Amino acid sequence: MESGEYVSNKGPVVIESSTPPVCSSCGKLVSPMEKGIKFLCPNCGSVTIWRCKMCRDFNVKYVCPKCGFEGP
Ligand SMILES: [Zn+2]
Ligand SMILES: [Zn+2]
Repeated sequence: MESGEYVSNKGPVVIESSTPPVCSSCGKLVSPMEKGIKFLCPNCGSVTIWRCKMCRDFNVKYVCPKCGFEGP
């Protein structure tokens, strides 16, 4: 059995700490320019839900990716 050579990348590790906000309703990026909102899922409270301005205006429902909670 071959011992797999694991070449660890020594380059700068890109940590996705600043994950771009994605609208939980339409899946589009919520740009800092538009007045998107973010809030914690009212049901499980552990997922940050983003909503873009358009989805707020049209009251598009969102689904929590963790608990499946639906709500406007
Ligand atoms: Zn949206
Ligand atoms: Zn949830």
